[in-house]
Amino acid sequence: MKTKMQKADKQGTAVAEAGRVLREGGLVAFPTETVYGLGGNALDAGAAEKIYAAKGRPSDNPLIVHIARMESVYELAAEVPETAKKLMDAFWPGPLTIIFRKAAHIPYETTGGLETVGIRFPDHPVAQALIEAAGVPVAAPSANTSGRPSPTTAEHVWEDMEGKIDWILDGGSVGIGVESTIIDVTGEVPMILRPGYVTKQMAEAVIGPVATDAAVTRQVDETVRPKAPGMKYRHYAPKAPLTIVEGEQRAVVARINALTDQAIAKGKRCGVIATDETQALYKQGSVLSVGSRSSEESIAHNLYAVLRAFDAEGVDVIYSEGFQDDHLGSAIMNRLRKAAGHKEIYVNS
Ligand code: AMP
Ligand code: MG
Repeated sequence: MKTKMQKADKQGTAVAEAGRVLREGGLVAFPTETVYGLGGNALDAGAAEKIYAAKGRPSDNPLIVHIARMESVYELAAEVPETAKKLMDAFWPGPLTIIFRKAAHIPYETTGGLETVGIRFPDHPVAQALIEAAGVPVAAPSANTSGRPSPTTAEHVWEDMEGKIDWILDGGSVGIGVESTIIDVTGEVPMILRPGYVTKQMAEAVIGPVATDAAVTRQVDETVRPKAPGMKYRHYAPKAPLTIVEGEQRAVVARINALTDQAIAKGKRCGVIATDETQALYKQGSVLSVGSRSSEESIAHNLYAVLRAFDAEGVDVIYSEGFQDDHLGSAIMNRLRKAAGHKEIYVNS
């Protein structure tokens, strides 16, 4: 298949054409405010199957359905609880996916066999225009090959999807850089299944107490069926093994320097994920700053691009500093832990 990549122009020509491709059952990658999505008609089982094939993703890992108007949720959810309405009012359009009981006409291919559906109204002009142009709800997981870091630029999408999908709408680099927060409101207590830009504290300010699924911070057993099936897969992974080193800053820098010493002595090429504050303190290896500790937004924005840069460079091992597991830092640490397969070292000064 020949993949067409085109900038989303102001006149909307590219968006109109890409919308037609979606409506006719094709696949279009498009920018959202979180990461690039790989879209197909959510009501077309065949389109969902094509998405799984293009990503190489296991088909029990459900897709998020994207809409461009608040009222569309009533056509796709069997029931819209009060808590969901409050969350929609507060955070839509925006980086929050809400899990509902699904309406009967949504195919199980879209929901990975589940009775529930994840719905999101993205806050990105190109995403909204594309969904409107398609005239159908758009099922879209992140537009990466399964297991690779999510794409935050159209070039990242091209790396993974060239020859496998019909269209890539180029809307430049995305703003947030980590996937949406997922919150399940079908149970008694609202539950965060995946942390993101909308933090637990932000959700609690609107709907009261919110729980966090255990699989968010620790590895889940292969035998249990987790609530968000995506949680059981090694996700967001760079090609080289990654270890996170956490603790007081000076001790972390010293430990990472010692680890790169050892690895280099064995002839390995090392990547180090540093911050603006520490970058100059690393003695060797390929050192990339992921952003400034004074701005968690900058770290979320750059994280996947840094992981992809180490893939391109072909390093053998990667060491990363750890981050505060709170607010947006929870989303950053969740992605980093998955990329590391939960390999973490704690150091004391
Ligand atoms: P991605 O958009 O690639 O980040 O993947 C979508 C994520 O949303 C996956 O981890 C899914 O497991 C999760 N998800 C989508 N729909 C549901 C649902 N109905 N219930 C639980 N998790 C869901
Ligand atoms: Mg993904």
